[in-house]
Amino acid sequence: MMQIRERIDSLKGIGPKTAALFEKLKIYTIEDLLKLYPRTYLSYDEPIPISEAEPGKRTALRAVIQSYVDIKKVRNLKLVTCTVKDGTGSVKMIWYNSPFLKQVFHIGQTFIFVGSISIRNHQFQMEHPEYYTLPQYEKLIASLQPVYPLTEGLSNKTVSKAVTGALSCIGQIKDNVPKEVQEQFSLMPLEDAVAGVHFPQNRQQLMKCRNRLVFDEFFWFLVHMHQMREKTIKAQNRFLITDWKEAEQFIKNLTFELTKGQKEAVEEIKEDLSGDTVMNRLIQGDVGSGKTAVAEIALLAVVKNGYQAAFMAPTEVLAMQHFEGIQRDFEPFGVRTALLCGSTKLSQKRRIYEDLQNGEIDIIIGTHALIQEKVIYKNLALVITDEQHRFGVRQRAMLSGKGTDPHVLVMSATPIPRTLAIIMYGDLDISVIKDVPAERKPVKNCVVGPKYRPTAYKFMMEQINEGHQIYIICPMVEASENVEAENVLEYQESLIEFFPKEVTISYLHGKMSSEEKNSIMRDFADRKIHILVSTTVIEVGINNPNATVMMIENAEKFGLAQLHQLRGRVGRGDAQSYCIMLCSSDRKEALERLNILNTSNDGFYIANEDLKLRGPGDFFGVRQSGDILFQLGDIYNNADVLKQADAAVTYLERKGFPFETIDTGNHISQVQL
Ligand code: ADP
Ligand code: MG
Repeated sequence: MMQIRERIDSLKGIGPKTAALFEKLKIYTIEDLLKLYPRTYLSYDEPIPISEAEPGKRTALRAVIQSYVDIKKVRNLKLVTCTVKDGTGSVKMIWYNSPFLKQVFHIGQTFIFVGSISIRNHQFQMEHPEYYTLPQYEKLIASLQPVYPLTEGLSNKTVSKAVTGALSCIGQIKDNVPKEVQEQFSLMPLEDAVAGVHFPQNRQQLMKCRNRLVFDEFFWFLVHMHQMREKTIKAQNRFLITDWKEAEQFIKNLTFELTKGQKEAVEEIKEDLSGDTVMNRLIQGDVGSGKTAVAEIALLAVVKNGYQAAFMAPTEVLAMQHFEGIQRDFEPFGVRTALLCGSTKLSQKRRIYEDLQNGEIDIIIGTHALIQEKVIYKNLALVITDEQHRFGVRQRAMLSGKGTDPHVLVMSATPIPRTLAIIMYGDLDISVIKDVPAERKPVKNCVVGPKYRPTAYKFMMEQINEGHQIYIICPMVEASENVEAENVLEYQESLIEFFPKEVTISYLHGKMSSEEKNSIMRDFADRKIHILVSTTVIEVGINNPNATVMMIENAEKFGLAQLHQLRGRVGRGDAQSYCIMLCSSDRKEALERLNILNTSNDGFYIANEDLKLRGPGDFFGVRQSGDILFQLGDIYNNADVLKQADAAVTYLERKGFPFETIDTGNHISQVQL
């Protein structure tokens, strides 16, 4: 008998050549093949009358052959045509290089044609339709045909056949989900689910099978999260932070009073840092809610208790900003700080490494550079990451691994619904800062068309005359990666023509070196620049309270959560701020979408709407960060299954299940951590 672990060339019809093609898809064994799930399914619907066919849509027609099959030579092509009809209309069928069809179609016979209708010279036509006899189609109609991920040279038919062969091993699939969970949650047998996902009888059955597989994906992921939590959260607190005198002083020195939300977050952090187990906390707060101040309080307390702390930001510009802010704010407290980024000069990096190891640096601020292997800390007690949604779970774990279980504080402006939080931050406690500083005026918004641009510029001029500063997010050109720089430059030049000479206009884009970026950001902070034209590099966390206008070109091309982040760059000081969203599309949906932002400044509401519209993939920029990829599961659409998997893990927890005995490695290989 064939074994599930055998290589796929033991399947009939698969030779070394085909096996090599499968390897490109990372399919080596029969088991791999069984887990190559269809990308989608083709369905065969009931035929419809020709008169009801919609151009461009996959359609099945039941029609009678009306004309002889005609074969014409056009250049090197053999053009095969024939006309078919039903009681409601006729369609011209077209094939290329298939002269044998002359033997297939005869006047008066009925066939089912499946394809997409187009209109040419006022006539319906279908190019290269599939065709079936009535009995053939009867069989197809109820089923769903799997469509597999492919690679060049490998056809869907070949994969489909191979999978059919592999199904003889289906009984050998091992279901590792604990028996008690299988029973308690009435899971269908894993082997039925796998078989059913390849060749479902109908949609309903497909959903059931899929749900079982999605359950497994979520379940193993959550078990893994649980294991991480056991390892990290329950770790003993070796850095007891008990002396809060200087931190209290710092709070007194602030030019503002902390908001209620900030105070609560600080209290929770205090409790964590002086508790038995280490802190693993996420602070969620809308843009401008003042998360940095909370972070600073924690940093100062840790340092004043004799330990080191690290503060990691997703971009160099942001790291730089935090570095300067912390230097300034901690000046009276005699704290030794340093900045470490990818672009830091090698000689300086070496010095910093040394100083960190010797304990000559109290707070290190930087980007991913902080978690490189070379960095060794003397006594790292606290790690803070800002705008966490840009960091993967793995990076967070790596940073924790730097010390002996340091306290971890994660700050994010992205409000996430509870189901998503289970996946993203399942191993963290959560504090939410619900309020923004009271004296702050809500940003005034408008959504306008390109015609409004000159008016917007005039308005900006008035704001500049009042001493304020402006951000403009540059238009996005298709495939903008490479033309990004050019694009920003061109736009800046067009602005120079419009504004008087005294107005300083600078630009910022992702292709600039970090030094350039940093120096521009510093000039902007020092008010030497009036208008900053930028790509979205400024999206995350930049803080210049004097900026009062944010204009976003091509606003329709951004996600709502991202627009909200961009808008969050203004409205950070006492003056009234404005966000001008320039929409270059007159599609109704585009305007409706932007209108959500126009009418709300509430990040939680907006994020939820955005999530509804786009799903979590785009929402979190998953494609870039590789953060939460499941093969089948979709955290938003399969929220029910996610809850069920969460319940299963909780159920096991209650029963004292020995999670540490489970090796999740095999099961979550599809998930990028
Ligand atoms: P975010 O939560 O988006 O990271 P920041 O921490 O950058 O926000 O804070 C935004 C601005 O609000 C900063 O200029 C900061 O000094 C100011 N700020 C923070 N807390 C308060 C407060 N309680 N009252 C007034 N202003 C505050
Ligand atoms: Mg911030």
